[in-house]
Amino acid sequence: MKAANKFLVDLRVALVQLNPQIGRVHETTARARSLLNQYKAALDNKKDNRPPDLIVFPEFALTGYNFTSREHILPYTSKTEQSDSFKFAQDVAKQFHCYTVIGYPESETETKETLYNSAVVVSPTGEMVFNYRKSFLYFTEDNWGCKENPRQFQNFPLTFKKRATRIGDKSDERHDITLKTSIGICMDLSPYKFEAPFNDFEFSSYNVDNNIELIICPMAWLHSTSITKQDTDMDEKGSNEIPKKLATIAQNLQNQNLPLTGSEGDFQIDLDQANITTRLSKSSPDINHEYTELSKPDMTNVNYWMLRFLPFLHLNVRYYWWQEKVLTDVFSELKRKTYMGASSTKAWEFSGKNAVLLLANRCGVEDGNTLFAGSSGIYKFNGNEDFSGEELQKDDNSRLDSTNPSVELYGNLGKGKEGIIMRDITFEVER
Ligand code: GLN
Repeated sequence: MKAANKFLVDLRVALVQLNPQIGRVHETTARARSLLNQYKAALDNKKDNRPPDLIVFPEFALTGYNFTSREHILPYTSKTEQSDSFKFAQDVAKQFHCYTVIGYPESETETKETLYNSAVVVSPTGEMVFNYRKSFLYFTEDNWGCKENPRQFQNFPLTFKKRATRIGDKSDERHDITLKTSIGICMDLSPYKFEAPFNDFEFSSYNVDNNIELIICPMAWLHSTSITKQDTDMDEKGSNEIPKKLATIAQNLQNQNLPLTGSEGDFQIDLDQANITTRLSKSSPDINHEYTELSKPDMTNVNYWMLRFLPFLHLNVRYYWWQEKVLTDVFSELKRKTYMGASSTKAWEFSGKNAVLLLANRCGVEDGNTLFAGSSGIYKFNGNEDFSGEELQKDDNSRLDSTNPSVELYGNLGKGKEGIIMRDITFEVER
């Protein structure tokens, strides 16, 4: 039998966090350019000033997110290659000679009958490589008749030139490497329509089942203190929570001398590889759930995102399920390969593998009531099983979050500042 070839991949990746406001595409684009120029200057000052291999922008990165109707969004929609967002991504890709991913509102045709919430991948020479349409939609998308991706979750190959070495090869020869890549746009990470069982973990299971190595997530994810449709619905039933929540948002911003649409242009540029995020468990008393300390990540959401990637996290209980054959019936009915990361052939399907997660979220406030969580971050799931010697526990819920040792936190931007975070990541793939 031919021994598997293992390659060590090293990539330099950058995430851009923006606060776009509807109707201000030109201002946002100009600010993004100036942010990228500041980043370029900071990069040029580094000893290793190699440009990034990949830059990721948020969902609806330049247009703003909270569109209230079809009429409202139509002027911002275009076919992919005619879209201003695509053209901007082409400029960025060519400037840095790297892949660039950006979220934008797409119309399938010139006549604009069918609209999607999409993210396009542009090659270092400015070609369109892949266009992904959001599969799971959020309430806001209902306002303007967004269509679901008819193909649902998808993956595609992304080739990085000379970014890999063969493990065990003494020559240090560098190889091109093609990574199995997927895109998830924000709500794609949540249970379908918030109605599917939480434990289905649709998106992360898709990624485990398909051996995805690079997961790219452009997001417009809300902060937990934001007003949401659930609040509006409750308010109509007389809950009267909204005025209280609005007052808290306004007060928090006022305490930081920020207007409601503020936190623009005060950039945070983090190229410090050593600046890793401190793990904080979801039950830690040190977690700040409020919208304060805007240059620090919102660990409430970081923990929640990790939870949504549970199939990638080490969990003792899977070995118990395996030993006790707890899931035999589940697997006989399951239409996909894994359930909560366990498969019929392995206690933990992802064991021994690596995957990288790039989560580029927007920040800021829209309409004075919708607050986004920022905290864009770079993560590696290391598939490490060294912890399985631990006594089998039926309940290890305490580390279904950023404290799980099988996820490495390379760093996060703050919850409320525009900025760029860049990290060098190394991980193994098998070919
Ligand atoms: N689940 C996400 C949230 O609550 C969805 C937002 C989105 O799709 N933009 O923020």
